[in-house]
Amino acid sequence: MAIDLTKLAAFAKEQGFIYPGSELYEGIGGIYDYGPLGVELKRRIAELWWRAMVQLHENIVGLDAAILMHPRVWEASGHVEAFHDPLVDNKVSKKRYRVDTLIEDYAQRLEERARKEVEKKARKAGLPPEAIEEQLQAHKDYVRAQTLRQKLAAALSARDWAALTTLLQEEKIPCPESGATEWTPVRQFNLMFSTQLGAIADEALEIYLRPETAQGIFVDFPLVLKTARQKIPFGIAQIGKAFRNEIVARQFIFRMREFEQMEMQFFVRPGTEDEWYAYWKEKRMRWHQHLGLRPENLRFKDHEHLAHYARAATDIEFAFPFGFKELEGIHSRTNYDLSRHAQYSGKKLEYYDEALGESYIPYVIETSVGLDRLVLAHLAQGYTEEMAPTAEGGQELRTVLKIHPILAPIPVAIFPLVRKDEFIEKARKLYEELRFYFMVAYEEKDSIGRRYRRYDAKGTPFCLTIDGQTLEEETVTVRDRDTLEQIRLPMSQVRFYLGEKLSVPEWLRGL
Ligand code: ATP
Repeated sequence: MAIDLTKLAAFAKEQGFIYPGSELYEGIGGIYDYGPLGVELKRRIAELWWRAMVQLHENIVGLDAAILMHPRVWEASGHVEAFHDPLVDNKVSKKRYRVDTLIEDYAQRLEERARKEVEKKARKAGLPPEAIEEQLQAHKDYVRAQTLRQKLAAALSARDWAALTTLLQEEKIPCPESGATEWTPVRQFNLMFSTQLGAIADEALEIYLRPETAQGIFVDFPLVLKTARQKIPFGIAQIGKAFRNEIVARQFIFRMREFEQMEMQFFVRPGTEDEWYAYWKEKRMRWHQHLGLRPENLRFKDHEHLAHYARAATDIEFAFPFGFKELEGIHSRTNYDLSRHAQYSGKKLEYYDEALGESYIPYVIETSVGLDRLVLAHLAQGYTEEMAPTAEGGQELRTVLKIHPILAPIPVAIFPLVRKDEFIEKARKLYEELRFYFMVAYEEKDSIGRRYRRYDAKGTPFCLTIDGQTLEEETVTVRDRDTLEQIRLPMSQVRFYLGEKLSVPEWLRGL
């Protein structure tokens, strides 16, 4: 069963994964800090993305562009003119919403209600599944949900805020908080944070914190082309912070105002974009699954309404605790971005294709995934409460974070069974050796059962215990977090055993 988000946030805070930003001063909306375990998890995910994208592809190189860019960049990219969200306030609850999510969530509720009703009736009447689908499509709430979605999409793509105001009024969309249907007119709101560059106020240049990392890649495209000796098709990958002044930053680290993206722009010959789009869709889905996100928790959702420059776009959605939502976007973006930068900068951004003997502006396939959303996905899927046997032969509830071992913030914990010098000495010796290879924790406090529980919740896949037998024959027990099985290994072999289980090269080989 999916874990409730409030509970997950409390767990993440308690364990030191994620804290509310500036909590000492009552927090700041949509901003979060990563604690000691969270920073490890996030870095590991980023590392595995980097290795899979850059190290494993001869034709992908990395980049780390600055967060602050020339303001013309955001004119060229279209962000100054069009990076707006429509917002609206409910007059009764005074709550502010993004109109698109407000209407989409309402349509979703209507659809779910219709489905439940139809399924209940069908069960009673013993109808086959095809009949359920047919009845659902004819249900008034289902039809209304589809109509709402169509009207919403039409208004959004025409950027017609007045039509959205009318839609809210005519369809009597209720506020999820108060149920009231009185709304202010829809207004547009630019999501970019701005600041000033320069010390003298009137001469200062208004600049923006980047709302995506991709533009750094486009702007540096000619330099990378020159210096990296790449030929098309090739890609540029980047991990970095992005900032968006989101209207409503809810849902924990799903929608943040400061977040981290991992983006890759793949430059291709015009006419080959469809095959590369298919290639990257498949590759990226495989990466998520290989890292342990279960296939039933992932799906593609193609965009129905494409941006005018886009040829195709899909989201890899994950089953978050609040439903399937975007984790990663894969976009076939034609040569829009490079053409715009060529136009705004007055520079040529063409590529000379030797094989073809002609120049062109390359087409682009983009893969763009939110690092924080990935952290959330792994925490949400991994969080498990289950009954487990106690040392005394009883059963107790344990909380365990079942994430891929290679992602575990502390993959190895070492415990002396009892707090006696000879046990401690051996355990410390093992700790001193292993810490050169892995993040290792050492703990001697509390009963062994309690120590196991503590590290279960941190997601530690391997707990090593130094017991009486260790002293006699130089062996240790290795307990598996998920199966609870214990094996006994010679001390001298532990490093190799763990090395194999936690090996990044082995993981990459299986990708
Ligand atoms: P959404 O529709 O959820 O707002 P988006 O379509 O605006 O997302 P993109 O602009 O495609 O998102 O950004 C690429 C990726 O960056 C997203 O798939 C998501 O993982 C991540 N991302 C975007 N906005 C945020 C945010 N406010 N907080 C955390 N991650 C984000």
